[in-house]
Amino acid sequence: MELHKRKFFSLLPVIASILFFFLKISIKTSQTKCSLLPHNHYWISSKRIVTPDGVISGAVEIKDGKVFSIVKEEDWHGYIRQGQIVDFGEAVVMPGLIDVHAHLDDPGRDEWEGFPSGTRAAAAGGITTLIDMPLNSEPSTVSEETLNLKIKAAKNRIYVDVGFWGGLVPDNALNATALERLLRAGALGLKSFMCPSGINDFPMTNITHIKEGLSILAKFQRPLLVHAEVQEDDLVKDNKNDAQLYSTYLETRPPSMEEGAIRNLLTISENTRVGGPSEGAHLHIVHLSDARSSLDLLKKAKSRGDSISIETCPHYLAFSADEIPDGDTRFKCAPPIRDAENKEKLWDALRNGDIDMLSSDHSPTLPELKLLQVGDFLKAWGGISSLQYVLPATWTSGRSYGVTLEQIASWWSEKPAKLASQHLKGSIAVGNYADIVAWEPESEFHLDENHPSHIKHPSISAYMGRKLSGKVLATFVRGNLVYKEGKHAPGACGNRLLAK
Ligand SMILES: [Zn+2]
Repeated sequence: MELHKRKFFSLLPVIASILFFFLKISIKTSQTKCSLLPHNHYWISSKRIVTPDGVISGAVEIKDGKVFSIVKEEDWHGYIRQGQIVDFGEAVVMPGLIDVHAHLDDPGRDEWEGFPSGTRAAAAGGITTLIDMPLNSEPSTVSEETLNLKIKAAKNRIYVDVGFWGGLVPDNALNATALERLLRAGALGLKSFMCPSGINDFPMTNITHIKEGLSILAKFQRPLLVHAEVQEDDLVKDNKNDAQLYSTYLETRPPSMEEGAIRNLLTISENTRVGGPSEGAHLHIVHLSDARSSLDLLKKAKSRGDSISIETCPHYLAFSADEIPDGDTRFKCAPPIRDAENKEKLWDALRNGDIDMLSSDHSPTLPELKLLQVGDFLKAWGGISSLQYVLPATWTSGRSYGVTLEQIASWWSEKPAKLASQHLKGSIAVGNYADIVAWEPESEFHLDENHPSHIKHPSISAYMGRKLSGKVLATFVRGNLVYKEGKHAPGACGNRLLAK
């Protein structure tokens, strides 16, 4: 017995080194599965790094998935001794985009998009985090149970980080326990519609539902995202004009629908002020299209201290109604893309800070539902497919307005991070997650069927056929190089972001 024991102890170093060898292999395998880089301590260098303190030439040290240090070029001599350098030269190194409004339709309608294709497209487009909307999946995410279905569906199937909004619907709005369970289960906030959503299990809310929802959200310090359009009359049923004309569609969703919803919303928004009954909650207006009366009302409410933010989308900034060909239902979305003067006003509002941020509102479907043979604007699915292209789309139209890299980073990263309570995301700063995109603003490309698109149905995108500026070279999520020049890391290693 003694002898066996002694023999065992003498073999211990050998056993330990064998175990250590296999441990090393497994660590290495997991790194290469999640990242196209074999190491987790390295530097990203560039002549144009967008930081909260301006654009610098220098290097960002990445260690264990976070930004460990940032060094300006003039200071780095003798400083960078260890690790490897990934040099992007003149290309821009910027915080990864955070898309707070995407419909990935998973589980249940993943033939429309799904977590794998959606997040691969996101990675290829420089988006490092996206927050999935609670509707267009089947079922809608309106309870603890349905949120758990989403969380499960995303497991090992996402290539970037993904968080989830829950839905505020009549069923749960007046049921505090149900709403609290949904929020405790990790929903980052709630989303509601003030008009029919087009999805049967996601009915619209009235102002009482919204008021009650805000009072619960206040306890959790989370936002309510509102689709602000009201339907006063059935303008679709009453309209007898040619459904192939874009102008017909515009008549069915006038700016007064947005204005009416916002007027209604502003009757209770003061509850969110400091000292108000719903202090801590926040109202976020998704995809604002009307840059006239609706925006004026929101500006006033913001200036009087209501906790409100506003988003718009690249398609409202890139296109105007007069250029949408009749029958081309790829451009159908709600609220609709309006006239050229409205587009100019949206750009003004974005640049002067009245509109806070951008989102994709990527809302795909099957080609047969989007491109109905007759090009019928009243029957086709409403939603623009754009996820992978939002950075070049924003930059291509923004360049002529003198948009800066810092503004792009603010609209696409810094402000969205705040809305989604992602405090370690949104900027390249020491201690933050190393969520980074490297891209070439000056590179142009034709978005056509030969372009490597990763969304499931690129043919229905309104950007298809366009020439765009801004090529994404590489995308890092928590230090993992998840995408580089057409290639993805093999592992779906994105994190599910649950509110605590
Ligand atoms: Zn949407």
